[in-house]
Amino acid sequence: MAGKSEPLTPRAKLAVTAGKAAAAVSRAAGKGSGSVIGGKVALRLDPDLLARLARHLDVVLVSATNGKTTTTRLLAEALRAGGPVVSNALGANMPAGITSALAGGSDARFGVIEVDEKYLAGVARDVAPKAIALLNLSRDQLDRAAETRMLAEKWREGLAGSEAVVVANADDPLVTWAASSSPTVVWVAAGQSWKDDAWSCPSCGGVLQRPGDDWYCGECGFRRPTPTWALSGDHVVDPYGVAWPIHLQLPGRANKSNAAVSAAVAATFGIDPKVALERMYKVQAVAGRYDVVSFQGRDLRLLLAKNPAGWLETFSLIDAPPTPVILSVNARGADGTDTSWLWDVDYTRLSGHPIMVIGDRKLDLAVRLEVANQQFTVCADLDEAVRTAPPGRIEAIANYTAFQDLRRRVGN
Ligand SMILES: [Zn+2]
Repeated sequence: MAGKSEPLTPRAKLAVTAGKAAAAVSRAAGKGSGSVIGGKVALRLDPDLLARLARHLDVVLVSATNGKTTTTRLLAEALRAGGPVVSNALGANMPAGITSALAGGSDARFGVIEVDEKYLAGVARDVAPKAIALLNLSRDQLDRAAETRMLAEKWREGLAGSEAVVVANADDPLVTWAASSSPTVVWVAAGQSWKDDAWSCPSCGGVLQRPGDDWYCGECGFRRPTPTWALSGDHVVDPYGVAWPIHLQLPGRANKSNAAVSAAVAATFGIDPKVALERMYKVQAVAGRYDVVSFQGRDLRLLLAKNPAGWLETFSLIDAPPTPVILSVNARGADGTDTSWLWDVDYTRLSGHPIMVIGDRKLDLAVRLEVANQQFTVCADLDEAVRTAPPGRIEAIANYTAFQDLRRRVGN
């Protein structure tokens, strides 16, 4: 399957070189890794470059509202059992960033690529993936239910007739509906803890019935497909009924779910679940997420949560009260400028935790916590929040740019 040695055309080579040069200039100017600008320059010179680079690889795409960066890391680690891997590990997940990542991996067999939800259909068309992993779809910061439904529709259209093996979470009705246009689907019972966006049938708009772990539409008959893989507690059960233990350094149920899907994808490339899961144990932190850092003599665990479903998952993995919790929210470009999503989060799960609130939008968050009857302290910045926190390891939960601010401040 791999190693089809079809050399790049002179134009494609020029595009890769020009892209690398642009990235180097951007880096030298202190503007980050330069991978996005490099990819943009390269794609302008050769619009087919992404397709050309992917032709040499067995490509897997990973998309979701939450967990795609972590799953990409877990899966890349698992597939290394089968050969060298190139991946957009830094999370640049739109076409320019993906192009730039692939340009750096000419010796790879596998391309494991995180794709922004909005670009999935287009990237899938360009790179002819062997597999596509779809984890979950819920509203992101600005999106409302109707936008999420439209995104599912774009996936569904894009996947119709796809030659990829689609590995999809059968517990997420929107993902199921999006994936079921695809001729080959491997269904994984990977769980879904955020159900607020999944009470109406994606197919007919009827009310979904959700008895236990099952779901179905009483109006049109659209229902949960029978999964062949399942997350069951701390194990992933394969199609033969064998339960493989999941040992991760990454915390929480959501990451077990990500591991279960990754094991199912790895199996489509002939990699044994035992081998795949053992390799996933190596993943420690993903772009600083879950990292425990030392700051002002205290241990701080850095947790990224960008949207309501992400906050819910994150609350479920923090240490029990009275562990102090710092919450930080910004509303800059990458976060979405509207903070009304804060109202969709159930903060009663934080009861008993001392809460310190920081970030550009700390007052929005304070109002929300007040309404939820939580005790909290508004602090000027991270330093003050850490000084205010009672003893013990501190959990610091932040949305996107607030998380970057935290990492900068703690020097991580
Ligand atoms: Zn229906």
